[in-house]
Amino acid sequence: MSRSVLVTGGNRGIGLAVAREFAEAGDRVALTYRTGEPPPAATRLGCAAVTCDVTDAAQVERAYKEVEAAHGPVEVLVANAGITRDRLLLRMTERDFADVLDTNLTGVFRVVRRAAEEMVQARRGRIVLISSAVALLGAAGQSNYAAAKAGLVGFARSVAREFGSRGITCNVVAPGFVETAMTGALTERQRAAVLDKVPAGRGARPAEVAAAVRFLASGDAAYITGAVLPVDGGLGMGH
Ligand code: NDP
Repeated sequence: MSRSVLVTGGNRGIGLAVAREFAEAGDRVALTYRTGEPPPAATRLGCAAVTCDVTDAAQVERAYKEVEAAHGPVEVLVANAGITRDRLLLRMTERDFADVLDTNLTGVFRVVRRAAEEMVQARRGRIVLISSAVALLGAAGQSNYAAAKAGLVGFARSVAREFGSRGITCNVVAPGFVETAMTGALTERQRAAVLDKVPAGRGARPAEVAAAVRFLASGDAAYITGAVLPVDGGLGMGH
């Protein structure tokens, strides 16, 4: 059965792969982008594209209204939008820290709270948050990012407890190293250092993360909630 799916940060990288995964399965998919023209990939995939900066509550509300008008209330939410502002702690500014928290943690709070209003009424829903292996491992230069991504785990588990009896699940996917623009910014040396620690010996394709998201959003995962599913080639050994 076709569902109304919303993917934040769906214009590229992992988010776009997730949007593609659901669109190809026949769902009614909306993806968000921040600026400029709607991403051409959205048209190709038959997805609705709505502008939304998750740091702005008014834009989040407007995006939901657009998605609801086009596809009906959101039944599957994938909170994927995220940024990095990597810097060693002694050089990290309050701005670097606050910006990452505002997008990667508070931004998720904004979109999940809005989705939950409708899901509670419908007594069903699937929420998947894109965290990171770094949430539980930590990473030098990423104290802001790791704090936000770890925060998602406590957030998801609280949401899972609040809405468990209403047919709503909330789970976390924790990717390791995925081949996107985010990791494309690393130097060859940084890249080799990370991949050296990955038992699979390679980075993930965005589609491999998307497949895990699709599973958690499926009927087969109805009894899975509050879980953290690593998609990291063994980097965190299940954590
Ligand atoms: P990209 O940098 O390729 O894409 C990030 C996406 O988030 C873009 O669509 C971007 O939009 C969007 N975004 C950023 N800030 C905002 C905002 N304030 N409001 C709305 N959208 C925003 O990253 P990835 O695809 O690699 O990452 C996707 C998610 O996966 C992130 O949460 C990231 O932390 C996580 N992740 C990535 C890993 C990796 O190795 N790549 C590993 C583990 C987790 P725009 O195009 O406008 O910038």
